[in-house]
Amino acid sequence: MRIVISSGHALKVRGASGILDEVNEARKIVDRVTEQLQSLNVDVISYHDNVSTTQEENLERIVDFHNAQGPHDLDVSVHLNSYTETASPMGTECLYLTQVELADKVSSTIAAVSGLIDRGPKLRDDLYFLNNTNEIAILLEICFVDSVADANIYNATFDRICWAIAGIISGHQAPELPRVLLNVSGHCSWFGGPEDTGVAPDEGLAFLYEVDDAPHLFLNEQPPGTTGLARRLNADHRPYVACRWDYAITPKTMLADPHQLAVVRSKRTGREAFAWPSDWGPHEDTGRVADLSPYLMEKLELETDDEVEVIYPRRFRQI
Ligand SMILES: [Zn+2]
Repeated sequence: MRIVISSGHALKVRGASGILDEVNEARKIVDRVTEQLQSLNVDVISYHDNVSTTQEENLERIVDFHNAQGPHDLDVSVHLNSYTETASPMGTECLYLTQVELADKVSSTIAAVSGLIDRGPKLRDDLYFLNNTNEIAILLEICFVDSVADANIYNATFDRICWAIAGIISGHQAPELPRVLLNVSGHCSWFGGPEDTGVAPDEGLAFLYEVDDAPHLFLNEQPPGTTGLARRLNADHRPYVACRWDYAITPKTMLADPHQLAVVRSKRTGREAFAWPSDWGPHEDTGRVADLSPYLMEKLELETDDEVEVIYPRRFRQI
């Protein structure tokens, strides 16, 4: 088993600070967890960024380091959270893109051994680390730097927290790479959201029936004058994709699972991004193979009728 673990932010690009300093503590945690993993005979590579001077450079440098280590089982990023100065306990959480079970285990185990509140696993689709590491990844927010209660618990239970992390991630087995179930190439267009007058105001989606089926894909409020979910999609901020899925191969329940992502690649630039399946379409008459969210079109610098490739589900180590 091989794990790559790094501290968040950088020596010259500081993170949060309050009672605790995020960068200093994240480094201590990474170093301690690394020692403990070594004592468990895990092949572990750790990293602190001492070079970067801007946030963008820092994010890219950390992810480049992780991706340069060859095939491995897990990428871990260690952070501390912040909100507002408080005496009250805030808690620990673990952020993920696809690894909900692992994130849940990490968060609940840290909470159990330390007494920190368990805030649980949190799905995040907007974090450079989770979006760009080649292997499966989690990002830990150990506790809040500006909570007196959290800082006290953290200082008193530092070793136990580190052991909890080492224990859980060393017991984790990388899942088998999933088989590719859909791989299509062709022209694309965009769909969904309040501006999409090509769909009726009351039009629904093929396998998402209510907002709660995929809250991360929808606007908080139904756009005025509409009642359907197609117009409620968060078109400007979420990556989603519609293809002509064969439900015998990719069942509706699988397509609706937020932990199963598709990869969309621009044929012209080779740029790739992940996307959530959100609907069935476009109709064959259009001559297109996929409809994307406007957000995804922009992210991949695509124009209507540009060529894309869609692969589902996302296989890590490919993108
Ligand atoms: Zn941070």
